[in-house]
Amino acid sequence: MTRILITSALPYINGIKHLGNLAGSMLPADVYARFQRARGRETLYICATDEHGTPAELAAAEAGQDVFTYCEEQHRLQHDIGRAFGLSWDWFGRSSSPQNRALTQHLAEVLEDNGLIEERVDQMVYSVTDKRFLPDRYVEGTCPICAYEKARGDQCDNCGSLLDPTELKNPYSVISGSRDIEVRDTRHLYLLQTKLEGRIREWVDGKADWPTLPRSIAYKHLDEGLIDRGITRDLAWGIPVVRGGLPRPGFEDKVFYVWFDAPVEYIGSTQEWAEASGTDWKRWWRLDGGADDVRYVQFMGKDNVAFHTVSFPATILGSDEPWKMVDTLKAFNWLNWYGGKFSTSQKRGVFMDTALELLPADVWRWYLTANAPENSDTAFTWEQFASAVNRDLADVLGNFVNRILKFNETRFEGLVPAGGESGPIEEKLYADVSARLADITEQFEAMEVRKSAQALRALWVLGNEYLTEAAPWTAIKTDRDRAAVVVRTALNLVALFARVSAPVIPFASETIAEAVGEAWPPAWPSTDAAAELSRLEPGRPVRAPEVLFKKLDDAQIGEWTERFGGAE
Ligand SMILES: [Zn+2]
Repeated sequence: MTRILITSALPYINGIKHLGNLAGSMLPADVYARFQRARGRETLYICATDEHGTPAELAAAEAGQDVFTYCEEQHRLQHDIGRAFGLSWDWFGRSSSPQNRALTQHLAEVLEDNGLIEERVDQMVYSVTDKRFLPDRYVEGTCPICAYEKARGDQCDNCGSLLDPTELKNPYSVISGSRDIEVRDTRHLYLLQTKLEGRIREWVDGKADWPTLPRSIAYKHLDEGLIDRGITRDLAWGIPVVRGGLPRPGFEDKVFYVWFDAPVEYIGSTQEWAEASGTDWKRWWRLDGGADDVRYVQFMGKDNVAFHTVSFPATILGSDEPWKMVDTLKAFNWLNWYGGKFSTSQKRGVFMDTALELLPADVWRWYLTANAPENSDTAFTWEQFASAVNRDLADVLGNFVNRILKFNETRFEGLVPAGGESGPIEEKLYADVSARLADITEQFEAMEVRKSAQALRALWVLGNEYLTEAAPWTAIKTDRDRAAVVVRTALNLVALFARVSAPVIPFASETIAEAVGEAWPPAWPSTDAAAELSRLEPGRPVRAPEVLFKKLDDAQIGEWTERFGGAE
């Protein structure tokens, strides 16, 4: 049986992530991991904080901390918030780990041995005022492609182009704001991607089953032509540059570029996990170590696709070592906050910590799954959010669960009722539920995020329709056996809903499963609805849970719109 390796793009270390970050990588990866585990497949979900590079140094300086302490604190924070959101990482590592350091240095050595790395004298942006080089985000200026005036040295946020700091027009130092900028010579290591272009293209050509978004981004970069990329920087915080295991002469004040070491941390984090759990990482990552039966799936936002389809594959292919490479790459567009971006400084949008202060994790998980920015950019609105909570969760799911469990408490002493036999209404229900279960399974398996939520909702709707049609509150007056059949069937629906909803709303699903005395974590059901709806044995005690989902009213929505920004 196939084993499933899942990674979601590493969240950068500085600051709490917003709901868009969650929606476009970590949450869908978690939903997929939970689904695969429920199916009984051996699954490993790996993530980590991406800790190196200029933004970490800048943020630590701003916080008045040394960068090591800063990263340690921020890592713990992101870990705790992720867990509170139910993210079921098997390991949440750190790209600054010793494991990643050793792996990154190893890969650079091998690439150089293979003739794919060379030293070049480079012109870099130097700030006379700050008396230092200004790599990447230490310098900002006007994008040479689209003329956006706040493009960063490494990438333009407006048009998405990858940039070199010297390409910026009207550059200024992010440290001092100074425009006293010179271009000076400095030595750096270059990864000769031009030599690898053919092999990368051949590899992408073999991924015909990838979704359109990652394929089109990969080909865009390949068609534009790859360039040799500097993989070192004039910085103190990062992975030291070595040759033959010793500090590389002339590179004592330089480190590897964060984008060289960050994706390597997928492997590094797995090593951290393996060491902590006393298990073997090679069976997940090395084709000569048993990884042949692994299916590797990556989740990420579209801004990360180039690094995962070109840069990281260049490192891996160039090593000529038998590393496991990605099989399926699931990329997402942006979740925006109304028409614009989330922004900490402008207090626009909800960030992960605040989200949990307002409402339980499942409510956000449901909204972000049902409205995932899958095929195009999507805008969060409070109106849509309130509808998802009130209609889907409260009216359709929550109401069904509470209604039938309350009725059972009143009429059948809170025990699964015995007696009676299923009739035509149940036969029809079995057929409908079987079809819905097949659809749900197919959508989860295909990582169709929105369609998974739609399919789930369609199943929940069947519960309410069944109760309306079978009307146990009428039947109880004349035919107790008939009422018993309906209540028993509906209680089985409750148990089934908990099992299939668990990947998306794990907390509420666990509460529901507990209420009907079901095991946790749940196994994925078959599509044999007649069997799945006859699981709860008569006489089993069940009870109504507390209200599962509280409805949001207009006053609440109005207050939050005021506080977090809404339509302009
Ligand atoms: Zn631009």
